[in-house]
Amino acid sequence: MATALPEALRTARVPDAVTQVLTTLNQKGYRAFLVGGCVRDMLRGQEPKDFDIATSATPEQVQACFSRVIPTGIEHGTVTVISKGTHVEVTTFRSEGEYLDGRRPSSVAFETDITLDLGRRDFTVNAMAFDHTRLELVDPFDGQADLKNKVIRCVRSATERFTEDGLRAMRAVRFATVLDFEIEPETEAAIRPTVPIFRKVAIERINQELSKLLVSPHVAKGWDLLVRTGLLDAFWPEADGADSQVLERVLPVLELRLAAACLSMTHVRDVMMRLKFPNKTAETVAHLVQHQALPELRSDADIRRWLAGVGVEHVDGLMSLLQARQAGMSPELKGQIHAVVATKPALNAKALAMNGKDIMTALNVAPSPIVGVMTRKLVDAVLEDPTVNTREGLNALLLKWSALSPIV
Ligand code: ATP
Ligand code: MG
Repeated sequence: MATALPEALRTARVPDAVTQVLTTLNQKGYRAFLVGGCVRDMLRGQEPKDFDIATSATPEQVQACFSRVIPTGIEHGTVTVISKGTHVEVTTFRSEGEYLDGRRPSSVAFETDITLDLGRRDFTVNAMAFDHTRLELVDPFDGQADLKNKVIRCVRSATERFTEDGLRAMRAVRFATVLDFEIEPETEAAIRPTVPIFRKVAIERINQELSKLLVSPHVAKGWDLLVRTGLLDAFWPEADGADSQVLERVLPVLELRLAAACLSMTHVRDVMMRLKFPNKTAETVAHLVQHQALPELRSDADIRRWLAGVGVEHVDGLMSLLQARQAGMSPELKGQIHAVVATKPALNAKALAMNGKDIMTALNVAPSPIVGVMTRKLVDAVLEDPTVNTREGLNALLLKWSALSPIV
């Protein structure tokens, strides 16, 4: 089972905190491997995002090996070890019982053999284990060959694996997108027939995969796959008409990519909430979609009024969206907008040179709706001409208006 060690693993850098956990487990007589994504990424010569460890030690035995541990998911066999201030996840080798509902196994058994643990994993490229202490790679499903050929292939029968856990179909698309791999034909063919299982998956889990897919440089490939396999229709039918090329041209920021997918959608905020995006994300996406059409901007004052509605913090994102739709603006207009932004114009009541109390004093009135009306008029005046935004300038305007209007 153990194969000759590829050069990439011989030279891969593993953080000291992780090495220390592996060494300790080994010294106590247990087997301990790096597994899953980190082995895949090390073999590709990429820096892993995190290092997961699989061990023959039971969770109790792992806890006994280290002074600082958090029993994060002890029933699933996962313990977080704090090593040199870093959190390292250590999971006991597992095999899974039958999946009865397409979402989670009916039982989990702890194992002493890494091969059984690798056998429950989703794709061959994710089913390799590396014993960094003994310099041994365990690769029972020839993940190395698939990695070399850039192929996402299920461990054993694709239909069975997608029937056990419906999310795996979406994960196949996500990995093909993020890694820029192709889905092996049999694996891809198993997606559509198992969509009914995918429909049962918790939306929070789908959200995680969708979010990773959307910020990928190869999002167009992933989006087309989601459409072609019927996965998108199962959880987000409203987005079916989105243009994957537009998506890919937008900056790889989650809110912007979501907005690009929602350009012709209504009730955007509600849809985002249904997909379990945080409130703030939902609001930002709805806001961007609402402002997708650029009004005619003829003067600096027009630009300031537009900025006041859009919010300076959304300008770069909106420009990226406009450009992606090739509804883009001329370089001159872009330059003019940036020049106006650079003057840090006052765009709202908070940026006025007078606050509410000052306005009441100037008008000699108690708190009343007129203060709000006057504040809005001042903001409009300042958007038109920023030079009036001084105490004297605003005071003069207030006096002029109150002289004209008998109600003040
Ligand atoms: P990433 O770098 O994006 O985190 P990853 O491979 O680490 O990629 P995770 O979702 O963090 O992906 O999962 C870690 C490992 O756990 C995977 O490599 C795979 O071996 C296994 N795994 C995760 N989810 C599943 C699943 N639904 N079915 C089977 N195995 C899974
Ligand atoms: Mg991971």
